[in-house]
Amino acid sequence: MTLQATAHITRFAPSPNGKLHLGHAYSALMAHKLAGAGTFILRIEDIDLGRRRPHFIDAIYEDLAWLGLSWPTPVMIQSERFDIYKTALNKLRDMDVVYPCWASRADIRDYINAQPGGREAWPVDPDGAPIYPGLYKDISSAKRDAMMWEGGTYAWRLDSEKAAKRARQKQANLSYFEASKQESIDVNSGLYGDVILARKEIPTSYHLSVVVDDAEQDISLVTRGMDLQGATHIHRILQILLEYPEPAYYHHELVREADGRRLSKRAGDIGIEYYRAQGYAPAQLIDDLLPPLTT
Ligand code: GLU
Repeated sequence: MTLQATAHITRFAPSPNGKLHLGHAYSALMAHKLAGAGTFILRIEDIDLGRRRPHFIDAIYEDLAWLGLSWPTPVMIQSERFDIYKTALNKLRDMDVVYPCWASRADIRDYINAQPGGREAWPVDPDGAPIYPGLYKDISSAKRDAMMWEGGTYAWRLDSEKAAKRARQKQANLSYFEASKQESIDVNSGLYGDVILARKEIPTSYHLSVVVDDAEQDISLVTRGMDLQGATHIHRILQILLEYPEPAYYHHELVREADGRRLSKRAGDIGIEYYRAQGYAPAQLIDDLLPPLTT
């Protein structure tokens, strides 16, 4: 039986900080196709208020409609939901699996450079960023309270080890189902270390809001690029702690330039808008982009 024979609720969740490029088109078309007889949902992930631009939201709607996609409305807009993310964050605080961290990037860099072997020897996450060294993790609660009272800026970090331990108490087997390979993958709680889940002024992060919203929208198959596969390890732990249902995951290939480089908004890669303006037919773009799914 193919994946598409099952009715799934899938979603495409772009961030409106640039125009959609071919990689986004591929991801959206994949989500739409894998929904089968189910529902394809569009969600706008705009918690980064500094980079969010309303005209990019309109451009997303236009480009996706041009590709022939449709989705239920109203569209969920994450920047309207900070209170909801805050409630989830508070639950994690009550479970004592997050801690405030005042370390700046420079503090973290200096700390790591001062360790034997320096940056070269320090473990990194799948994106190549150094694992957070745990500064402020073990300070006394009196010091923590005093620092919070002082009013400086801080981030809420997930205590990944403690969080995984708590999650295992609720569910012995920590894993996720990778539908693209039809296999169950064990969660590695240390992959990204103690990630930031919220900031003092923004009560959420990508990891927290995506988990809250996938649950709220009853997403049964999360489809997204392979570059986000590592994040799923964090998401499964959060889902178990917050007692959300478990979706399956389909991490798809990334569309690349001929030289193997990943497409990116920042590099100004060719947008869907360009193909529209050139009179390219959506069906042709779709045929070029989305070879028939064999799974
Ligand atoms: N908003 C994310 C992005 O634009 C996608 C998140 C996801 O699919 O989980 O990269």
